[in-house]
Amino acid sequence: MSIHEVIGKRVELLDQGWIELQDVMGDDLAIANAARVSFLGESKGEEADKKLLFYLIRHRHTSPFEQVEFKFRVRAPLLVWWQWVRHRTWHVNAQSGRYTPFKKYDFYEPSTWRQQSESNKQGSEGEIDPGDAERLSALLAEHNNRSFELYQQALDAGVAKEQARLFLPGFGVYYIWVCKVDAHNLMHFLSLRMAPDAQAEIRVYAQAIYEHFFKPILPWTAEAFGRYVLREA
Ligand SMILES: Cc1cc2nc3c(=O)[nH]c(=O)nc-3n(C[C@H](O)[C@H](O)[C@H](O)COP(=O)(O)OP(=O)(O)OC[C@H]3O[C@@H](n4cnc5c(N)ncnc54)[C@H](O)[C@@H]3O)c2cc1C
Repeated sequence: MSIHEVIGKRVELLDQGWIELQDVMGDDLAIANAARVSFLGESKGEEADKKLLFYLIRHRHTSPFEQVEFKFRVRAPLLVWWQWVRHRTWHVNAQSGRYTPFKKYDFYEPSTWRQQSESNKQGSEGEIDPGDAERLSALLAEHNNRSFELYQQALDAGVAKEQARLFLPGFGVYYIWVCKVDAHNLMHFLSLRMAPDAQAEIRVYAQAIYEHFFKPILPWTAEAFGRYVLREA
């Protein structure tokens, strides 16, 4: 698959989220060439270049991977945004709730409800009883509708958008942002956010980046990353 077939591709996630690749700079060859500038060399052919990338990943010679940049546009609930922006190596610009009013259905409603994990106080495992799940989904929908009504009432009363949003249902509000990162720091993000202890919602986004964008754009790097960092079988 060529880079041009992947740029502009959008992958739908969760109930109304998505991620699309807006732009890319560089490829596996750019990484090999950056590494070879040490001795003022360039590509030595596919086999040698691929071998070099595997060597770089294995020996954590990371800076050549910073020569490749990925730019995404993301729509995700605030709870994903909040975890994403902890990664300081990303460059981010986000929609402003002070400027753009939220719409009625801009809220995440999960298709399943996970149980609290016994072993990981931050984590979840398995799903709750289907009867309880149905009741909770109805409650969340009711809560979101009521929150939006109150938000609208505040706007109608002339309250500024920046303050009226206090009525919105917090972590489930969908946000849109654009973000740019280099391949080295993207691999760091993926290794943390695809791990089983990451929250399921951000894992879905990290997995989509890995499968739909990272693998097609940097196939050799992805193979080495899968083998030596993720330890995939
Ligand atoms: C499963 C999980 C649970 C988490 N739970 C919590 C939690 O309970 N509370 C909480 O607050 N956070 C939590 N986090 C966030 C976590 O602590 C990190 O902030 C987040 O994963 C970003 O990682 P990072 O700093 O390595 O990445 P980045 O910010 O992308 O940085 C990448 C690397 O660059 C270097 N770096 C970047 N900026 C600096 C700097 N200013 N100084 C020195 N080195 C720098 C570091 O080596 C860093 O590893 C959690 C993360 C995960 C994955």
